[in-house]
Amino acid sequence: MYLFILGHDIHFHDKKIALLEAGPRKECDHMPDSYSNRVSSISPGSATLLSSFGAWDHVCSLRLKPFRRMQVWDACSEAMIVFEKDDLDDMGYIVENDVIMSALTKQLDAVADRVEVFYRSRAVGYTWPLPSHSCDTSPWVQIELADGRRLQTKLLIGADGHNSVVRKEAEIKNIEHRYDQSAVVATLHLSEATDNNVAWQRFLPTGPIALLPLSDTASSLVWSTSHEHASELLGMDEESFVDSINSAFWSNINHSDFIDTAGAMFRSAISLLKPSGTAVRQLPPSVAKVDPGSRAMFPLGMGHATEYVQHRVALIGDAAHRVHPLAGQGVNLGFGDIACLAHHLSAAAFNGSDLGSLKHLLKFETERQRHNVSLIAAVDVLKRLYSTRLAPLVLLRTWGLQATNALPSVKEQIMAFASK
Ligand SMILES: Cc1cc2nc3c(=O)[nH]c(=O)nc-3n(C[C@H](O)[C@H](O)[C@H](O)COP(=O)(O)OP(=O)(O)OC[C@H]3O[C@@H](n4cnc5c(N)ncnc54)[C@H](O)[C@@H]3O)c2cc1C
Repeated sequence: MYLFILGHDIHFHDKKIALLEAGPRKECDHMPDSYSNRVSSISPGSATLLSSFGAWDHVCSLRLKPFRRMQVWDACSEAMIVFEKDDLDDMGYIVENDVIMSALTKQLDAVADRVEVFYRSRAVGYTWPLPSHSCDTSPWVQIELADGRRLQTKLLIGADGHNSVVRKEAEIKNIEHRYDQSAVVATLHLSEATDNNVAWQRFLPTGPIALLPLSDTASSLVWSTSHEHASELLGMDEESFVDSINSAFWSNINHSDFIDTAGAMFRSAISLLKPSGTAVRQLPPSVAKVDPGSRAMFPLGMGHATEYVQHRVALIGDAAHRVHPLAGQGVNLGFGDIACLAHHLSAAAFNGSDLGSLKHLLKFETERQRHNVSLIAAVDVLKRLYSTRLAPLVLLRTWGLQATNALPSVKEQIMAFASK
């Protein structure tokens, strides 16, 4: 989905861009009443990128829900952290993936003279050129499609997801790990209408559960939990499923007197030192119903390609990195990748350089790895730190979260990083 951005860059006006998509064209002018169960939290930085070539207007005309506050808390203690904007700015937007795809598809039509989209076209084989080619080998990447057609390009951008065939065929190593968790998603209806402008996430010992606003009365669920529990949640009757969600947000069954007392003492000590730093705890809305047929589960993992580029190849999005959804950053990292790659390729095109040359591809790799690696590592540590009931670790994370919550400057830095 990211590659259309290149079509909008003025410096590519004399280039031909082919976009291969294994799936069908996705476009809609009117949204159905029911919400899709696949949504993403879109950062202000990604929204600005989409605005820069008109796609955000389409998103706004279809459907989105801004949120102004994010409350994250621990199920094993009273510790919580609240992120909110002092001004009236939005912290982010919950957008259905289909809405993003539809908006991008519409904008692609505007550059149809430069970007040719091959829907339902799966790439099945690649032939790579040697860096210094001899006369009998092609200097370009050759691509074979499932229907037998062949294409060739000076630069192949692999945006083919976490099982990237481009990455595998280019023999780029991927450091990967399958988490012991699957994410259960569903569309939920709240017991009563509210402003619903808060993104909620509670860390249970089995994994984080998040409630993301869709409208005044509907929210989207992303519940990461053990594979067995995820299967159970999928098989439950509606009433038990709804009860499980409400209990996951409200129950204090994982609390212990020792952690609660130690946490309360630390919190009072902080409030004496820094009375203005703590934010008020809000109660999450309760869930009344689940949309029939909206429950689904996805196994979770992390991955990171040791290289994002090779001669005439670049990887972006999940093909280059995969993160746990607890930080809601996967798509945003992908948008950051393409913005960075487009910037360097645009400069190369302006200078009349070879777009597939490692010279500018390496600049993209350095810039993005610097940003992505720290985020992927931080998310992985958070996932592990919150997957335990061990008292010393629970105490450590309780104090850590309370201290961070009391330090507005640290929270601002976290928000600035996450909003890119
Ligand atoms: C439960 C869950 C919740 C999430 N929530 C968020 C969130 O709130 N915010 C966020 O930023 N991220 C979130 N993510 C992560 C986000 O969904 C991914 O990071 C994002 O979808 C990756 O996009 P991508 O285009 O790189 O890969 P994909 O979405 O996997 O797309 C790959 C594309 O390549 C095409 N393709 C693959 N192989 C071929 C081939 N051989 N030939 C032609 N086409 C091919 C596919 O058809 C597909 O269109 C979440 C993920 C999960 C599982």
